[in-house]
Amino acid sequence: MKISQRALAIAPSPTLAMSSRAKAMRAEGKDVISFDVGEPDFPTPENICRAACEAIAAGQTKYTPAAGLPQLKQAIVQATARDLGLEYDPGQVVVSNGGKHALMNIWESIVDPGDEVIVFAPYWVSYPAQIELCGGRAVVIPTRGEDDFQPDLDQVRAAVTDRTIALLVNSPSNPAGAVFTESTMRGLMELAVERDLLVISDEIYKHILFDGRRHLSPAQLGEEIKSRTILADGVAKTYAMTGWRIGWLIAPKEIATRAGDIQSQETSNPNTPAQYAAIEALTGPQDSVQTMRAEFERRRDYLVPALNAIPGVRCPNPGGAFYVFPDLSAHVGRTLQGTPIATDLALAEYLLEKALISTVPGSAFGSDGYIRFSFATSMELLQEGVRRLREVLG
Ligand code: PLP
Repeated sequence: MKISQRALAIAPSPTLAMSSRAKAMRAEGKDVISFDVGEPDFPTPENICRAACEAIAAGQTKYTPAAGLPQLKQAIVQATARDLGLEYDPGQVVVSNGGKHALMNIWESIVDPGDEVIVFAPYWVSYPAQIELCGGRAVVIPTRGEDDFQPDLDQVRAAVTDRTIALLVNSPSNPAGAVFTESTMRGLMELAVERDLLVISDEIYKHILFDGRRHLSPAQLGEEIKSRTILADGVAKTYAMTGWRIGWLIAPKEIATRAGDIQSQETSNPNTPAQYAAIEALTGPQDSVQTMRAEFERRRDYLVPALNAIPGVRCPNPGGAFYVFPDLSAHVGRTLQGTPIATDLALAEYLLEKALISTVPGSAFGSDGYIRFSFATSMELLQEGVRRLREVLG
C-alpha cells in the first residue's frame, strides 16, 4: 500500500492514545480514574447551547464564508479588545475547526521546508508534529520544573539560526500550567524583534489563571511585537466547548488572508451552528467562565500540596490551565511491586495497571521524568486518585 513519507513520519497523539487505553479498561469494568483528559469536566453553559439550537431553528445550517461568519469575527475582535485591550480588524481573523486547526493554518501559511520554529518543552504534543507536517523543524528548548518552566534566555538566543522563522509561546501552558513572567515574555520578545522572528502565541488557556494573575499576551508589549505576533485561541477550554470545534487565529493581514485561502481549499467554514454558539459564548454573560476558573483553582490548591506530600514527587505550582506536571524522576529507575520502572512511560503504565489512574508521561511533551495530571475532574476523584498514587508509590 502506498503511504506518503509525510504520513509515515507522524505518530498518533500520545495523549489520545492513553485516554483510549483508559477507556478500554473502563469498558472492561475497571474503575479507572482519568487524570489524562484535556477538557473541562463542566457542561457547555446553557445559554450557549440554546444559541446553537436557535440558529438551527432559524435555518442557519448552510455554508458561511470560509474564514467564518462576519458576526463571529466581529465578536472575536470585540472580545479581544475587552479582554486584552488589543485592537484588530475582523479581516485579520480566520475562524477554524478548533484551536488545533487554527494552529495548523498558521504553520501552513508561514513554514517552508527547512524552516525552524523555537518551541519550549514541555510542549503541547501537536506543535512539533504540525510544524513537521509542513516540512519545518521544531527546535526544542527544555525548561525545568525548578525554574517554574521559565526558559533560559541565553539558551534561546543560542538556538536561533538563519533558518529560524518563529518563536512559539503558550502561556498558560499545556502540560505544565506554566505562566511566563513578564520579564521572560519581554526577554523573548526583544529577541524576536532583534532576530526578526514571527511570534505565535497560543492563548487557549488565557482565561484560566490563578492567584489573581492577569493574562499577558506578547501582543500587549507594544506595536512592534503586535505587528509580528499571531494569536491562536478558541472557545474549547474557556467555555467548556471542546466538542463544538471553534477556534481562530488573529494575524497580520497578509498572513490571515493566506490562512483563509488555505482553509477555503482544505475544509471551508467551521460548523455553522457552532459558530452561532461561539458568538453567544464571547458576547453573552461571562459569569460561567469565572465559576469554572474558581473551581479549577480550588482543585489546584488541593492537588499541589497533596502531591508534594508523596515521597519522590516534586510538583511545581501551576499559574493557570488545569494541569499539574510533577517531576517523578525519583521513581524512574526503581522497581515498584516487582515492576521495573525504566522510563516515565513505564511509570504511567504502572499507574494505570496498579492504581487504575490514567495520566500522560512527560516524554510525550518532550520532558522525560515528569507526568501530567489533569485536574479537570471532580474533587472526590482527585482525592481518591491521590490516595491510590500514594499507595502504589510508597
Ligand atoms: N493549544 C493547546 C495548548 C491545547 O492544549 C489545545 C487542546 O488541548 C489546543 C491548542 C487545541 O484546542 P481545540 O482544538 O480543542 O480548540
